[in-house]
Amino acid sequence: MIRVHVDLSSLNTFALPARARFFAELTDQNELPDLLAFANHQALPVLILGGGSNLVFTEDFPGLVIKMALRGVQLDSKGEACLVTAAAGENWPDLVEQCLEKHCYGLENLSLIPGCVGAAPIQNIGAYGVELKDVFYSLRGWDCFDQCWKTLTAEDCQFAYRDSVFKRELKNRFVITEVTLKLQTKPIVDTHYSALAQALNQQGLQQPSPRQVADAVIAIRKSKLPDPLKLPNAGSFFKNPIVSGQRAKTLAAEFPAMPQYPQPDGRVKLAAAWLIDQAGWKGKRLRDVVCHQQQALVLVNNGLADGQQVLNMARQIQADIKQRYAVELDIEPSVY
Ligand code: FAD
Ligand code: NAP
Repeated sequence: MIRVHVDLSSLNTFALPARARFFAELTDQNELPDLLAFANHQALPVLILGGGSNLVFTEDFPGLVIKMALRGVQLDSKGEACLVTAAAGENWPDLVEQCLEKHCYGLENLSLIPGCVGAAPIQNIGAYGVELKDVFYSLRGWDCFDQCWKTLTAEDCQFAYRDSVFKRELKNRFVITEVTLKLQTKPIVDTHYSALAQALNQQGLQQPSPRQVADAVIAIRKSKLPDPLKLPNAGSFFKNPIVSGQRAKTLAAEFPAMPQYPQPDGRVKLAAAWLIDQAGWKGKRLRDVVCHQQQALVLVNNGLADGQQVLNMARQIQADIKQRYAVELDIEPSVY
């Protein structure tokens, strides 16, 4: 059923005010082509909405919002591998817990990332040293251009740092309806990420189990990140910038304390939170938007902000960082 003028403020974790001109919930994938045809006939833009935890509404959405509500999880263990296929509307943190309970491992570091399964490939979600691409097998969805169902491999998805083909060539063109992950039945864990290793060491866990790794990630996240239900936000507002090796050397000479993370391709990742903090933005408030006191990468809606206010603060931070460090900060969430 298609509804009109639907309030989206409770459907985005930033609690930004916006309404959808048309709105439908997708519970049956067979209804997707008809919904898209409805929008196509009227030349309306389409927005696929998952958990609304990585987007910024700056105005009412003038087209059709399709709330992804497809459900279902299938596990298929074959020796040491376990293929897990989850529908796009499944909750990501719940899927991580379900896999752990069924002894399928590999998702521990991605515990408690808000949102739906179908959005996970969009920016190749990542945390604590693991990215979706490390456990990805394939995905299925509808190509709005070719008007057919397609299965895409990891290579097709062109995963990169907080990026994929769905943010580029396939933007606004491909609806992901299910994702298949390749997990393992052997309890191998990845604890190389410094903050995680430190937390496990403090607990005296030299050889932690997957459950212990997941619990440590959950505890760090709860201690550092604002809960969107209490302090509305969209997680990290900016991506960590990646600069050339040469540029990183120049910056290190000028700012010796600047954290730098060398990448396999010779470029160097900088910590956007450090740059923003050093520039004095942490804890600052502009009208109803606050640069979070515990994590400068997160912008928080004090309750009355709209998307324009959020963008205004973001632009001021971007301009300041560019002026101080000659580094461009890209906005991570999708802006509508
Ligand atoms: P939405 O916000 O609903 O959508 C995001 C974009 O994906 C939109 O452009 C939407 O149209 C598109 N999209 C959604 N579903 C589909 C689909 N099925 N098919 C096609 N397009 C689709 N991200 C990380 O990577 N790592 C983190 O550690 C992390 N921590 C976070 C912590 C907090 C407190 C918050 C609020 C956010 C965090 N995020 C993190 C960002 C966010 O959780 C992820 O990007 C998540 O995958 C977004 O899922 P969603 O369902 O909410 O997507
Ligand atoms: P943190 O541990 O304080 O580290 C700050 C930054 O340094 C991170 O952004 C991280 O980059 C980088 N970093 C730290 N140790 C690293 C290592 N060993 N190798 C490579 N890079 C390293 O970060 P945090 O803010 O508390 O977040 C913890 C994790 O959760 C991070 O992975 C972060 O990306 C993720 N997270 C993401 C969002 C989001 O919305 N995207 C929100 C909250 C948390 P990376 O970000 O590239 O890992």
